[in-house]
This record gives sequence, C-alpha cells and structure tokens, in this order.
Amino acid sequence: MEIAGKLGHILFPPRCLGCGVLSSKLCIACESEWSQKNLITALPETIVYSSRHYSNTAQHILLAAKEHGIEKAKSYICSAINDAISHIPRIETVRALIVPIPSQKSAIRKRGHNFLADIVATLGKENRKETANILIHRRSVLDQSRLPARERFENLAGALSTTRTLGRGELVILVDDLVTTGATLGEAVKTLEGAGFKVICAVTACVALPLR
Ligand SMILES: [Zn+2]
Repeated sequence: MEIAGKLGHILFPPRCLGCGVLSSKLCIACESEWSQKNLITALPETIVYSSRHYSNTAQHILLAAKEHGIEKAKSYICSAINDAISHIPRIETVRALIVPIPSQKSAIRKRGHNFLADIVATLGKENRKETANILIHRRSVLDQSRLPARERFENLAGALSTTRTLGRGELVILVDDLVTTGATLGEAVKTLEGAGFKVICAVTACVALPLR
C-alpha cells in the first residue's frame, strides 16, 4: 500500500490546485488569492456572507471540487463556507436549518456526487446545526454560469420548489458555493419564504463582483 502510495506520488506528484505548479498545498501566490476575507453582499432578498473573492485560484478550486470531486478541493470549499458561517452575528445562538442550493439531477448523475449536499452535511456536523435538502428543481434549467446576468434571473424564475411546504417560520441559512448575480439565492429565498420558512441569511465560499 505504502509502495503504491509512493509510486502514485512519483507518477502523479501533488500540484497546487490553483495553478498546477508542483506543490503539496496551495503555492504562495494562490494561497494569497485564496486568503480569508469578511465579505458581505446585500441582495434585495437577503444578506450574503462570503469568505473568499472569486479569483483564478477560486475558479480552479471550485471546478476541481465540483466537477472532479477532488477531496482536497472540497475541503477548501468546506473551510471557506465555514469561515463565512463564522461571520454571521451570534451564530452560536442561532437555531436555523442549513439548506443547500440544489443541483439538478442531471448534474449529480454526471458528477457522480452531490457536491453541495455533501459539503452541507459536513458543515452541519461541524457547526452542530440541523441540515435539510428541502429545495429541489421543479423543472430543468440551463447552466447559470453560461448565461449573461439578465438571463440568469429568467432562467431560474419559478424553477425551484420545496419538499416541505408547511414551514412555520423556521429559520434557514442558505448555502451556495458562489454568488455572482444573486439570481439563484434570490429565487431560493422567494421559494422558501413562499413555503413559510424565514431565510435569515445566505453563506457562500466565494463572491464575484460586480454583482449586477
Ligand atoms: Zn498555485
């Protein structure tokens, strides 16, 4: 086993997830781009806490975690979302459900894993918060990242639904990997609040600016 591990390191030496140079962790330049910040974005529907700027490094880490299921990349995203959660005022005393933005079934099939749901399950345990995958797609939508800002809102309008429809004012913290236009988070807030939940805020690993 140990020999196989060493052979693996020789054949596939570890590389920086941000830029690909030989390194067992993020290189100094990528580490600096991925440094923790306290970033707050006010969307019309909710406040978003994020801990990383969306940079080239962030783009590569997100891609590695989401599309390729690389564990180390997933752990970077998980830590970044955890950092964002720690920015929520009085988070220790807040009793809220942690709810991920859903992936489409076709994306889960293609990737072979449910990226955000897996991360949220870990986050729930680490923060001792209940988690619930109560948001689902009621129809298929186009990949948001391929659309211009204006079309993202149209693409998502009315596309989400909840599996629990009788929320009684239960508090929710929404989780996504990245906020760009805010179209996805905004639609999720409308859907959850329409079902009787109260979204207190959203958290994302990264934020891309300008937002609108
Ligand atoms: Zn690098």
